[in-house]
Amino acid sequence: SQDRIFNFAAGPATLPENVLLKAQAELYNWRGSGMSVMEMSHRGKDFRSIIEKAEADLRALLNIPEDYAVLFLQGGATTQFASVPLNLCQPDDAVDYLVTGSWGDKAFKEAKKYCKPKVVWNGKSENYVRVPSFDGLELSPNAKYLHLCANETIYGVEFKNYPVPGNPNGVLVADMSSNFCSKPFDVTKFGLIYAGAQKNVGPSGVCIVIVRKYLIGNAQEITPGGLKEVEKKNERKAGVLYNAIDESKGFYRCPVEKSVRSLMNVPFTLEKSELEGEFLKEAEKEKMVQLKGHRSVGGMRASIYNAMSLAGVEKLVSFHEGFPGKAY
Ligand code: PMP
Repeated sequence: SQDRIFNFAAGPATLPENVLLKAQAELYNWRGSGMSVMEMSHRGKDFRSIIEKAEADLRALLNIPEDYAVLFLQGGATTQFASVPLNLCQPDDAVDYLVTGSWGDKAFKEAKKYCKPKVVWNGKSENYVRVPSFDGLELSPNAKYLHLCANETIYGVEFKNYPVPGNPNGVLVADMSSNFCSKPFDVTKFGLIYAGAQKNVGPSGVCIVIVRKYLIGNAQEITPGGLKEVEKKNERKAGVLYNAIDESKGFYRCPVEKSVRSLMNVPFTLEKSELEGEFLKEAEKEKMVQLKGHRSVGGMRASIYNAMSLAGVEKLVSFHEGFPGKAY
């Protein structure tokens, strides 16, 4: 239409006009449900029908076999730079990376945190203008996977066909963010394909992962696991702090019954309440602030929400232990 422009952005990118108009029409009241897709339960049958249709359509479009899972994930393609090594190998495993541009390079650098990646070819010295010839590649015979970026968005370099991994038991992994669904390809050549949606298949906010099912379920132990992991960390932090309080022989006290002590807000008092001001002042010198209890109850309060590190709590505990007048 007249009021639309031609948007050549690399992503988030232009979307088809008819898709936008349909989304607009369905946004207010999705097919008579009386609500928009943004308001409905993600476990309810209406939303399930949407996501199941999306998956079925994608499976039909790309001919995705049953032994592949299709995942709609958050965190963009960037999160997959970490998720791939975290889920496909252990810290000592070898993996190979072909670097044909800066996205492949980023993926390699991220993988270094989680396994032993090797760059088997790097186009940087030629300013990323080509892909390697597959014949001369020295691929690792024991690499768990071979990673490549199917289309380097910044340099405009696209693989037209794909190498096979050096390890017969390894798999090919491709970042297809910027050419996903732009042409047919044989899914079965790959162990895992990932693609941020915001170029060829939709708005930003979702990353599609197509992965052979047997590759799922072997994540490294350090892989973040949602709120259960968050709870574990919080329990550990709170445990360290409550322990220090309880073992101070009454110098510090937490008035709350043990069974219902908060993992988030830890109130405590000093036996000698006249030392509280001193405690706060000294803590501040040590770069620990906001430890004063709420004005309605006084005393001290350490709030140890998710982003407070264990190191912060440990520092508070060692400060506790070293505070003048305190010896235990
Ligand atoms: N890989 C490629 C090939 C990309 O083009 C981009 C984004 N331009 C990314 C990864 C990063 O994707 P995201 O912004 O979804 O994290």
